[in-house]
Amino acid sequence: MKISLFNIANFRVDGGAMFGVVPKVLWSRVCSSDENNLIVLTLRSLIVEIDGHLILVDTGWGDKQDEKFFRHVHLHDGEGLITGLQKRGYKAEDVTDVFLTHLHADHCGGAVKLNRNGNGYELVFPNAVYHVSRSQWEWAVKNNLREADSFLEENILPVEQSGRLNLVDEEGELFPGFFVRMCYGHTPGLMIPAIQYNGKTLIYTGDLIPTMAHIPLIWNMSYDIESLKTIDEKERLLSEALEKDYILVFQHDEKVECCTLEMTPKGIRAKDKFGFSDIF
Ligand SMILES: [Zn+2]
Repeated sequence: MKISLFNIANFRVDGGAMFGVVPKVLWSRVCSSDENNLIVLTLRSLIVEIDGHLILVDTGWGDKQDEKFFRHVHLHDGEGLITGLQKRGYKAEDVTDVFLTHLHADHCGGAVKLNRNGNGYELVFPNAVYHVSRSQWEWAVKNNLREADSFLEENILPVEQSGRLNLVDEEGELFPGFFVRMCYGHTPGLMIPAIQYNGKTLIYTGDLIPTMAHIPLIWNMSYDIESLKTIDEKERLLSEALEKDYILVFQHDEKVECCTLEMTPKGIRAKDKFGFSDIF
């Protein structure tokens, strides 16, 4: 197995929305915001080579929407999706599996692009199977008012039309050493990968624990559909991770890529913080 992590791009989002009921006087101690209350998030993706598969976990925002859309997103820095892959020796055609944790636009937008004529869409990874959980797929195509801004037709329907969609029904081992954990609080069927590598287990926490600041059980995003489920899912994951010494890998934390955990009087918190390349 070979595994790497890279940041597709940074973007900005409302700090209040990222921390839900937590007052700004508290979250501003651990996360800085600009004059519009926006904070910076990364879009880190994993690339995993196992057993003849080249798996890409999440694809960032992509570039299909108009200038107004991206003005709100404030994309900046990062390596870019295709450039990030290239820097590690891979082409888009090499990717055999695109694993989408869920279908919110910042996680799956990069999987689909405008075609050459600009009148339709095509897959960015033409040879890949696209893995999405069945519950997330059914939820997203049904859509709902609350997540309407996050589930964009142009990100989702071309994947189905391509015939390359694989709906994942259950938790378990999807590839050798690559396990899936299903969560329902952020959005139904959010898939969290747990990867066993060199005797270590890496948890790509995705939108369940987007940054290190979201480790405390009630520090959750307003975007979550069911906060009580998120709290329960975090509690179970964090207890197991503490007990078994898992490494958390953050998709959205601007400053911290990875951490281990320890028990404190306030509950489970980060222990050692380190870069992804320091794991190996
Ligand atoms: Zn999300």
